[in-house]
Amino acid sequence: MSLITDTPMTRPPLSPLRINRDRLLHRLDQLAQIGAIEGGGVCRLALTDADQAGRDLVVSWMRDLGLTITIDQLGNVVGTRPGVEAGPPVMTGSHIDTVATGGRYDGNLGVLAGLEVIETLNEQNIQTRHPLAVAFFTNEEGARFHPDMMGSWVFSGGLSLEDALAEVGTDGTTVAENLDRIGYAGAVPCGSQPVKAFVELHVEQGPVLEREGIQIGAVTGVQGMSWQEFTVKGVSNHAGTTPMNLRHDAGYGASAIAVAARQLALKMGGNQVATVGSIQLKPGLVNVIAKEAKLTVDLRNTDSTLLKQAEAELQTHIDAIAAAEALEITAQSLARFEPVSFDAAMIDSVERTAQALGCSVKRLPSGAGHDAGMIAAIAPTAMIFVPSVNGLSHNVKEYTAPADLENGSNVLLQVLLQLAEVKHLGDGSRLD
Ligand SMILES: [Zn+2]
Repeated sequence: MSLITDTPMTRPPLSPLRINRDRLLHRLDQLAQIGAIEGGGVCRLALTDADQAGRDLVVSWMRDLGLTITIDQLGNVVGTRPGVEAGPPVMTGSHIDTVATGGRYDGNLGVLAGLEVIETLNEQNIQTRHPLAVAFFTNEEGARFHPDMMGSWVFSGGLSLEDALAEVGTDGTTVAENLDRIGYAGAVPCGSQPVKAFVELHVEQGPVLEREGIQIGAVTGVQGMSWQEFTVKGVSNHAGTTPMNLRHDAGYGASAIAVAARQLALKMGGNQVATVGSIQLKPGLVNVIAKEAKLTVDLRNTDSTLLKQAEAELQTHIDAIAAAEALEITAQSLARFEPVSFDAAMIDSVERTAQALGCSVKRLPSGAGHDAGMIAAIAPTAMIFVPSVNGLSHNVKEYTAPADLENGSNVLLQVLLQLAEVKHLGDGSRLD
């Protein structure tokens, strides 16, 4: 499915329009004040009071810009600007929930840059052939409720609404209760809103663009991701009196899994990464051999076959660790997403548009999951990355320079104009 027919070598016609950087920065700043935490970061966990306040502010901006707002049964919000023709909108957007120690750009940039594009068009009274929409999706971060990308996953039909609503969060309450509580359990059925094309602007959240001095990332796809939780069962015993060869040490088993995961990723190379982000030992005392360990393993790869290979090889190591220490090790999948490849013509469009705007650009895969990876199941999709200083994200020190925010937003503006097709200016002169 391809929307752009230019040959790869031609540059797209560039509109003279540009976004207003100060207006974008002002909105980013205002939204960052809701749930602000020390160090310049933000804590707006999904469906909390802070998330509600953030949503209310963004919805008020959508209303001010004249967008028609829909809220679906999972609280995904879409603001639509009509086109000359009816039909599915060209959509942009992202999320406004954050992790507990989040930055002010992750997700928020994609939503607020979308609003800035709309305001730029409104200001010049420019109409597009197809409607344009700005969306923010519920619980992208997965920090309070599993899984992450929940809203966009249900929106695109990959996860059932019932399963999402029943999900119990870290505080023991459900998604459904909290949606009701904050007033964002909408009436629009999930999955009932077709999308013509989707483009998401996001901070890279990694070090590649900054390290190479590149201004824009044309994202080729999203890595596949496998999250597993392993429970290691051994036998508690005295740390002083139990000979080393007679131990069934769950703490040792968990550590051996962590080492195996890292060595596996190093051996496979390429885009394979592996992380053990959480280990808990029971009873967790200095002089007691642990009887139980729970740990998580996060495996990611851009290639579906290699991701499966990593999972299988890790399991082989785990079986060997269990046998050697006489442990019982069980696995539970917490989340699993296949790798996603974005639309080839739309990746081209991002790349050529960035070049036409005089920006340096590099193609790269996304190491993090994004709403765009979900929407790619129902519409041609692409993403635009801008550099993250020191590659930091999910950190209060997350920062992207204003010039980069502006560049990314202008690439977004131009790509959306190409997709939505400019019809005419308010004074009757044609822009295209
Ligand atoms: Zn994000």
